[in-house]
Amino acid sequence: MFGIWGHNKAAEITYYGLHALQHRGQDGAGIAATDGKDLQVHKGVALVNDVFKHAEFKELTGHAAIGHVRYPTGGKDSIEEVQPFIFHAKSESVAIGHDGNIMNKAILRDELESQGSILQTSTDPEILAHLIRRNGQEVSEVSILQALKKMVGAYAFLILTEDKIYAALGARGIRPLSIGKLGDAYVISSETCAFDIVGATFVREINPGELVTISDEGIQSTRFTEPQKRALCSMEYVYLSRPDSDLNHVNVHASRKSMGIELAKEAPIEADVVTGVPDSSISAAIGYAEEMKLPYEIGIIKNRYIGRTFIQPTQELREQGVKMKLSPVRGIIEGKRVVMIDDSIVRGTTSRRIVKMLKDTGAKEVHVRIASPMITNPCYYGIDMSTRDELIAANHTLEEMRDMIGADSIAYLSPEGLERAIVRDDSLEQGLCKACMTGEYPVTLKDAGIKMNDQY
Ligand code: 5GP
Ligand code: SF4
Ligand code: MG
Repeated sequence: MFGIWGHNKAAEITYYGLHALQHRGQDGAGIAATDGKDLQVHKGVALVNDVFKHAEFKELTGHAAIGHVRYPTGGKDSIEEVQPFIFHAKSESVAIGHDGNIMNKAILRDELESQGSILQTSTDPEILAHLIRRNGQEVSEVSILQALKKMVGAYAFLILTEDKIYAALGARGIRPLSIGKLGDAYVISSETCAFDIVGATFVREINPGELVTISDEGIQSTRFTEPQKRALCSMEYVYLSRPDSDLNHVNVHASRKSMGIELAKEAPIEADVVTGVPDSSISAAIGYAEEMKLPYEIGIIKNRYIGRTFIQPTQELREQGVKMKLSPVRGIIEGKRVVMIDDSIVRGTTSRRIVKMLKDTGAKEVHVRIASPMITNPCYYGIDMSTRDELIAANHTLEEMRDMIGADSIAYLSPEGLERAIVRDDSLEQGLCKACMTGEYPVTLKDAGIKMNDQY
């Protein structure tokens, strides 16, 4: 998500911002902008570049905008699912963009319906919009704070009205959201890499439980929860974020390299070369090689023109995607004992195919080293790993996985190793969510008032 207040090219800057955030979701993109009188939106089910081809900016005039790229966590693959969502009421309109997952949405929906609200979807932004406007209230800091207090889960929201942008981060700060400045304008982004691209400077992260309001009067901050230890998604460091972003003042590339170093300390192996699965595992592979004093080589090449395999909807397509996407470098692999670093294993598709590819290319041995802990628990916080069934590590022993993947050996980084690679001190700000790896959930189903059910 990206937003800007106070710039006469707000929508265009948001386009460049979204472009830098494209890796966060490729299923759709949208921008809503305001000139102080009206809200306009343009969106599509495609990559940012294909949704915006210049003509759109004539409509999207004004000094403020928010934009969103869609990462599917359920729901349909259609334009109705693409954010920002616009809600019109008598005197005002509001556009909402959301990252994460509201765990108690079914309960909130029932509550709203029993009070007479008519909801068209059960998306998180629509529930927020109805909670804000409950009892005919206007969109204001007060009504937003009341609404946020009811929402349990992981969230970052950007809310645009004709006269303000609001940015909110859930109580534990599971998802990332930062503020920057571009001249006199304020910018907000999920990742700091977007600030660099539009020429903005980083100001600070939004705090867990904080609501920031930006308008022509400047920037204001209030809280809707007491400060709690942060639980920033460790998968942001492992896989999701771009290496040039900083999260919680820790650079993503540097953290991945440290994960590789920790992994080498925990799980060394005799080998000839170290290679990483592009792009997200390269930093960890460099770290592993450095610590092992082995050469790091580009043993696998990625075709740049194919999106992330994980995003494909079916297993069949996913497998097809991996094949199209990655090719071995024969001169590096043939006859060698190869350490193959991947950032994570979810279903095991990527590792299995790559090990086979490396062996088919003549690798003498392939040792798989995973630069994050085993994923054994579902994520309730907006990352697409929502059932235990699909997680290979939840259903198999390490030896079974080694066999299924076809590797000569396999090892994962420990949760403690991951923590050492990312966390600098024991302050409130530096806490991590590792729930999918350890089962210790910073926000539980019980907190959200729900029993274990089919959804999870
Ligand atoms: P698998 O192929 O095991 O199902 O998925 C793991 C691979 O998918 C890794 O190579 C990782 O880089 C990539 N990946 C794509 N999207 C995600 C995601 O949202 N989370 C995780 N952990 N890995 C992802
Ligand atoms: Fe991130 Fe895992 Fe926590 Fe989900 S459960 S927020 S993927 S660390
Ligand atoms: Mg990968």
